Amino acid sequence: MNKRTFIKFMTAAIADYVVSPLFARPPGNKLTNWAGNIEYSTDNLYPAASLEQVRKFVKKQTKLKVLGTRHCFNTIADSKNDFLSLKPMDGVIALDPVARTVTVDAGITYGLLAPYLHGKGYALHNLASLPHISVAGSCTTATHGSGEKNGNLATAVSGLQIVTAGGDVAELSREKDGETFRGAVVGLGALGVITKITLDVQPTFTMRQYVYENLHLSDMRENLDAIESSAYSVSLFTDWQDERINEVWIKSRVDQGQAFAGAPDFFGAKLATKNLHPIAELSAENCTEQMGVPGPWYERLPHFRMGFTPSAGKELQSEYFVPRQHAVEAILAIQGLHKQVSPHLLISEIRTIAADELWLSPCYKQSCVTIHFTWKQDWPAVREVLPVIEKELAPFNVRPHWGKLFTMSPVKLRSMYERLPEFVRLANKYDPQGKFRNDFLDRNIFGT
Ligand SMILES: Cc1cc2nc3c(=O)[nH]c(=O)nc-3n(C[C@H](O)[C@H](O)[C@H](O)COP(=O)(O)OP(=O)(O)OC[C@H]3O[C@@H](n4cnc5c(N)ncnc54)[C@H](O)[C@@H]3O)c2cc1C
Repeated sequence: MNKRTFIKFMTAAIADYVVSPLFARPPGNKLTNWAGNIEYSTDNLYPAASLEQVRKFVKKQTKLKVLGTRHCFNTIADSKNDFLSLKPMDGVIALDPVARTVTVDAGITYGLLAPYLHGKGYALHNLASLPHISVAGSCTTATHGSGEKNGNLATAVSGLQIVTAGGDVAELSREKDGETFRGAVVGLGALGVITKITLDVQPTFTMRQYVYENLHLSDMRENLDAIESSAYSVSLFTDWQDERINEVWIKSRVDQGQAFAGAPDFFGAKLATKNLHPIAELSAENCTEQMGVPGPWYERLPHFRMGFTPSAGKELQSEYFVPRQHAVEAILAIQGLHKQVSPHLLISEIRTIAADELWLSPCYKQSCVTIHFTWKQDWPAVREVLPVIEKELAPFNVRPHWGKLFTMSPVKLRSMYERLPEFVRLANKYDPQGKFRNDFLDRNIFGT
């Protein structure tokens, strides 16, 4: 191909880009979420490589959803019409050392962004258990890591660019848009297509990760506050058998005088002598480095390494947020259900998250403990046990994770969010005809 033919070919390819399916799949090979438990209602997936292509596509469609990295376990991302993917828009737009922010294309994953930031001397405040997920998809569902003083990942957002239903561009910032901004950040994909996100950054830091085995439940009960505040980020893994926390993962910053000593004993739990997977029987090969070996923040904050299949793979997930002051009671309540829970479980994880001001964040104005369940991939069995868990946690005003499986009624769910009526008004302003709504949003948010 000579240069002229090549340019003509590329021009035609770019012009057609927005109307060509992203990947051709063999017939019968349906588009699914990461876990494979949701077969999306359409296979029509179109890529966009620029703001203009997004605007053009949005204007043309009567209904669409944006698909991120497909890591949600429920139908929050589903569409019966068309999907737009921002996967080709995965660049870093600007790093501002004065404002201490980074602005990125919304299709970027944490796995791409984090090493870039570290290379430039910066860090994000926290990461989820894996880096494979898109920044936009994560922030819009209030995805979180752990740490008493760490807000969820959406709390790092300081600016958003959104293409609204009419194809217009809305620019929102924490500084100038106050409550509207706080309503839009955890937007559940209902406000439009996020095309650009600005995140707070801080100077890069080094961490050490230690794992302890066999923390007795009575020691957890007596010392939970001390355990959770012992390091920057703490996760407790349990299968709810034998009245113990199987593994305690301590992620400690070596700066700020916060270094964790890594003593052989931690409230009766014993320091592991090799790297472990949260499910002890599985190989730790896909897990981040432990044993106190120092490393950059982005290789210690997630549990799973980029480039490997995270978690167990064939699984389902649910997670419940309980106000932090009820942590011990809530954990013990689930322990009381161990006979119903354990047979269907791969592992549970308990984390803490700081309060925030984002309207639809489960941590809105309350710090939380989260109780997470990685289930065997058996939906009929999991569907039976979720209402039992939700009933047990109901006295603590439990809120489910937006991107995971739950059975709470929409009426109950809506009643848990005091700013929801304002959120609905905000969504109606940006999307009056419901172009970005799907069955999940209609049911759980808009009550239609
Ligand atoms: C193995 C595994 C581990 C996980 N670990 C954690 C964890 O540690 N902590 C936690 O909180 N969650 C965790 N999750 C859940 C998951 O990361 C979140 O639910 C997150 O939303 C997934 O992001 P995504 O891009 O894959 O979203 P998708 O499922 O692709 O989409 C989610 C929502 O975001 C919307 N969306 C995506 N991109 C855009 C955009 N550009 N503009 C507008 N809307 C958009 C979609 O329309 C949809 O509503 C985990 C999931 C898996 C599979």
